[in-house]
Amino acid sequence: EPVEASNFIRNIVDNDVASGKNGGQVVTRFPPEPNGYLHIGHAKSICLNFGIAKRYDGQCNLRFDDTNPGRESEEYANAIRDDVSWLGFEWNELRHASDYFDKLFEFAQELIRQDKAYVDSSSAEEVREMRGSLTEPGVPSPYRDRSVEENLDLFQRMKDGEFDDGEHILRAKIDMASGNINLRDPTLYRIRKVHHVRTGDKWSIYPMYDYTHCVSDALEGITHSLCTLEFEDHRPLYDWVLDVLKTPCHPQQIEFARLSLEYTMLSKRRLIQLVEENHVHGWDDPRMPTIVGMRRRGYTPESLRDFCDRIGITKNDAWIEMAVLETCIRDHLNKNAPRRMAVLDPIKITITDLPEDYEETLTFTNHPQDEAAGTRPVIFTREVFIDRDDFAEVPPPKYQRLIPGGEVRLRGSYVIKCEEIIKDADGKVLELRCTHDANTLGKKPEGRKVKGVVHWVSATHGVPAEVRLYNPLFNRPDPTKADTLAEAFNPESETILTSCVVEPALQQAEPEQHFQFERIGYFVSDRSDHRTDSPVFNRTVTLRDTWAK
Ligand code: ATP
Ligand code: MG
Ligand code: MG
Repeated sequence: EPVEASNFIRNIVDNDVASGKNGGQVVTRFPPEPNGYLHIGHAKSICLNFGIAKRYDGQCNLRFDDTNPGRESEEYANAIRDDVSWLGFEWNELRHASDYFDKLFEFAQELIRQDKAYVDSSSAEEVREMRGSLTEPGVPSPYRDRSVEENLDLFQRMKDGEFDDGEHILRAKIDMASGNINLRDPTLYRIRKVHHVRTGDKWSIYPMYDYTHCVSDALEGITHSLCTLEFEDHRPLYDWVLDVLKTPCHPQQIEFARLSLEYTMLSKRRLIQLVEENHVHGWDDPRMPTIVGMRRRGYTPESLRDFCDRIGITKNDAWIEMAVLETCIRDHLNKNAPRRMAVLDPIKITITDLPEDYEETLTFTNHPQDEAAGTRPVIFTREVFIDRDDFAEVPPPKYQRLIPGGEVRLRGSYVIKCEEIIKDADGKVLELRCTHDANTLGKKPEGRKVKGVVHWVSATHGVPAEVRLYNPLFNRPDPTKADTLAEAFNPESETILTSCVVEPALQQAEPEQHFQFERIGYFVSDRSDHRTDSPVFNRTVTLRDTWAK
């Protein structure tokens, strides 16, 4: 296990544990709303919350913030559970904010009894106007001084479904002149006659996030409620609710910066738009920054945890470069992915000085630095494929691969020499006729230097495959800044190659196995589409950093 980097939240928790605060216990939670799939930004929050709990032998709950029926679904909730598990974390309790609807209702009645909440019958528009702005103080609602009895009665009838959506809301009675707009009598409940996945048609009113969140945290005995910076201004409300209710547990809310990743958009609302408008093939499109998308692209849980650790936890919003993410997966796969050979854009080579039925079984190591990864047989034959860009009829300067009359080594095999080029009517190279130097297997050629080494696959034994190449979905670091989404798309974000040939050992690949295709990059067998008889591989990342300028 790598040692995780320290951060300011860990320091706070360290001190709390050392001083015996909360009886030395640490309880955290990850509270997603099941209104979309999780993205890499959520992974940051997951690693933080579960990581902190694990460090202190504490607990971390997975809590669905399911207070917006209509936008939420079981499909999303199931996907979230899968994602958290796949990332390598186990929750202590699986909870739903809706588990607390009864308690939340009783607490709201308690707020009313303490004259700390009232039913407002103004329209949404009026409430917004009366709330004021940063420069204008708020104006008290004409309903602010309703009696406790009237408020209790109206609130009960709101619950009983006597009113329509928008007729009344329940508001906290705090301070309409507060400099913090969140404290200007925020809404606690609104009427919504919508079916809820878990509570059915029991409720006609649903609690607002700010009210639900602090109460749920308190009921679960959360010690440290970690959230993103946009909630900093909501903390006074969080504390106000729990102070008024005198809950035995009063969690400490601590805010940290959200993750922003260049060339991506991390917001469920925007990701939903990409899916619904068919800009991508679905939530798990390998170009998506969702956990399922990244998983399908070939990211591993280890690499995502490493990424979250490397970017750290701070109070400053900062954009993270794509190169940081890619370095994490490259490092992980460099150590762990077996090596294979694949030819993406084949040209046939015929080694004319070998007999028609020539076959020689060579032994290749699966990993250059890891002997335990073992070896595999690779069959060398008279006809092989190499990649089209490993041959140049008119070579650019310093080109070290195959050229007319030149020599190159077939990786792990012999040195060959290009004697003849065969083209079709349009001038496209169809085949290269070569000879080989039989004295170069595992040996340098005599009397000359051959610098180039190219990968190859036997034409008689190779397996046809589809290979999908991915590039960033967007053409600019912050796609949300573009005038239209359309102009921010990278037209080359996906390239599907259907005439690739891979070495026979890849035929045994199961879905979601990772490989380095030598000299090309890291690839994964597609989680959904890969079949033994029609293999499909996705490029996870190139071998080298392509962002460096
Ligand atoms: P989105 O804006 O994408 O819908 P959200 O914050 O509304 O995100 P939630 O489901 O409420 O999504 O998020 C669950 C938790 O994940 C919250 O605690 C939230 O702060 C955290 N989170 C969401 N996005 C990020 C991010 N980009 N970086 C770090 N944490 C995030
Ligand atoms: Mg949210
Ligand atoms: Mg959101």
